[in-house]
Amino acid sequence: MASMLISGTEISEQIYGELRARIAALKEHGITPGLAVVLVGEDPASQTYVRMKGRKCEELGMHSVTITLPADTPEDVLLGRIAELNADPAINGFLVQLPLPGHIDEDKVIEAIDPAKDVDGFHPVNVGRMLIGKPGFLPATPAGVMEMLRRSGVETAGKHVVIVGRSNIVGKPMAALLVQKGADATVTVAHSCTSDLAEVTRTADILIAAVGKPRFITADMVKEGAVVIDEGTNRIDDPTHPKGSRLVGDVDFEAVKDRASAITPVPKGVGPMTICMLMANAVKAAEEQSR
Ligand code: NDP
Repeated sequence: MASMLISGTEISEQIYGELRARIAALKEHGITPGLAVVLVGEDPASQTYVRMKGRKCEELGMHSVTITLPADTPEDVLLGRIAELNADPAINGFLVQLPLPGHIDEDKVIEAIDPAKDVDGFHPVNVGRMLIGKPGFLPATPAGVMEMLRRSGVETAGKHVVIVGRSNIVGKPMAALLVQKGADATVTVAHSCTSDLAEVTRTADILIAAVGKPRFITADMVKEGAVVIDEGTNRIDDPTHPKGSRLVGDVDFEAVKDRASAITPVPKGVGPMTICMLMANAVKAAEEQSR
């Protein structure tokens, strides 16, 4: 079966077009949406993500601030910077890049962010609103997957969705969004304690992988004709690649693509959607704060 490739690059470009129009409308009222990113320490993957976010902000003509703090920054200093950002009228939304160094309590940091500026959607107030289907900020990766499904015409109503992974930032919110009225899917969440995982995944009309293990989902785990969404971003060594490494997903793409009716690639799948949804949240924050 020839599968449809669901391109996060193409769908995110569509959304960026819509965001540019919304940013232009805000600017007509003298408002430039402002996004700040706080990075503590020097984790190379985090540095890359933070750079990408800053670059995208600038490309869209948004006000972008990056605050870089040393890895040994005391928790109360970080909390102080968060309080400043909460009070700063030029910053409509901000996030603290995770993971944080071990001496800092991540929950305390997330809870210190004003929910109205919590563009990552990790504050318990926004998590709660998402769960009960009320407006708020949705976490970028699962929100990006919902947009990909919607905009590529994949029907979720009445479909059985199996999500492999139950993290607070990917698997669980993915499940919460898919069971909402409107999405109307029947959802199974699998994890490391699930028995007979392949048996479970083979029942999926839509299979979503959020495991963090390269090529974990193999062809025998996928029902013929299923839609397969790969949230994984795993860097693996590859001496043939100029960088010596490359990104692969949680799905064995080459083997699975012929069984699936539609599939997302890695890279250029869910990845570009994540940053796009963050930008969308920042624009939404600016719109709401200008009312
Ligand atoms: P976590 O490590 O927090 O969660 C992984 C989940 O997979 C856990 O729930 C774990 O189960 C489950 N799991 C691990 N091994 C197995 C197994 N053998 N069988 C079944 N389930 C298993 O990862 P994240 O949720 O943060 O990320 C998942 C993937 O998504 C990663 O590749 C990450 O890089 C990627 N990601 C991509 C983003 C993007 O922008 N595209 C953004 C965020 C993440 P248990 O809970 O039982 O341990």
